[in-house]
Amino acid sequence: MSVLPLFSRFPGLASALPYVALGSLPTPVVRWSALAGATGAASLWLKQDDISGPLYGGNKVRKLEFLLGAARVRGAGSVLTFGAAGSNHALATAIYAGALGLEAISMMVPQEPGPTVRRNLLRGLAAGASLRLHGGRGAVRGATVAEVAGRFASGAGRPFIIPAGGSAPLGTVGFVNAALELADQVAAGELPAPDRIYVASGTMGTCVGLLLGLAVAGLPTEVVAVRVTVAPYTSPEKARRLFARTAALLRRADPAFPQVAFPEARFTLRDDFLGPGYGRATAAGTEAVARAASAGVTLEGTYTGKALACLLAVEAARAGNGRNILFWNTYNSVPQGEAIKAMDYHQLPADFHRYFTESDGGLPG
Ligand SMILES: *Cc1c(COP(=O)(O)O)cnc(C)c1O
Repeated sequence: MSVLPLFSRFPGLASALPYVALGSLPTPVVRWSALAGATGAASLWLKQDDISGPLYGGNKVRKLEFLLGAARVRGAGSVLTFGAAGSNHALATAIYAGALGLEAISMMVPQEPGPTVRRNLLRGLAAGASLRLHGGRGAVRGATVAEVAGRFASGAGRPFIIPAGGSAPLGTVGFVNAALELADQVAAGELPAPDRIYVASGTMGTCVGLLLGLAVAGLPTEVVAVRVTVAPYTSPEKARRLFARTAALLRRADPAFPQVAFPEARFTLRDDFLGPGYGRATAAGTEAVARAASAGVTLEGTYTGKALACLLAVEAARAGNGRNILFWNTYNSVPQGEAIKAMDYHQLPADFHRYFTESDGGLPG
């Protein structure tokens, strides 16, 4: 296994930060010729974080390497996290916590039903996670407090708490490393320095970590974060705060980590591809998923379809050429069918059963 680029550049971080290797890193970067023509870009590239881990890919693995590393250092026997019913983050946490022998508890809030939600729930069940569905945001906070208090009372030990999406500063460090990984691939001649990276933004750890890492690497790349959630999960203020907190964490851990200001000119947050809300399909997103499929890549409608829709619309409308564009694929493509096959939704708490008995209203996963 190779040393993380973050650790080889800043050896002080290797000893100061909690870390457990979970992923298959570095992830490949490949030319995406089949879609390049539609954009007018000189070249279109795909960063394949869909195969970032052996058990389950996608963007959460990089965050969990640090977050679950911290849970282990803390000596926690369980981790508690949050998400929508079909949360990829809750699922990734369940799978990798389970692999480390940690119990995973997921506090979930309702979302639009669909095939992805059903698959993720069954896969979480297969991973042995405790899944609970709560009414709304206030309810989930109240339930969390009760849950944690109950754990203290029962003496079972305090769970290690991971925020929604894993976008604590420590989780964001995983994407600082990801940007340095990309910089190494540029330096090795695998691709030109991208002019722009398009990436979906749910809780911002991915886009903000990339922005910080690119600044440290000295790359001139712009990050276009395509919002798929509403504030406070995604907002310009959140980006600045998370950037500052992550940079501060890294400088505390290793004073050799440089002081970097938020690169205003290299960050764009696009609001115009969200549509009616989180997990709700848009026509442009659905079309982008179909175009990706015909170009050999499986995306979904909640995150990556909206991000690709933005890339296609913005780049096609941009005059001139010579642009090198990168799409950061944040969606898992490691097959999960085997693990799900034997699972029966009746084993889930009753609150979840409606995702399996009610119709979806024709929404793509
Ligand atoms: C969680 C997730 C994102 C968003 O990442 P953030 O770091 O929360 O912004 C994007 N794409 C997919 C497929 C995800 O599961």
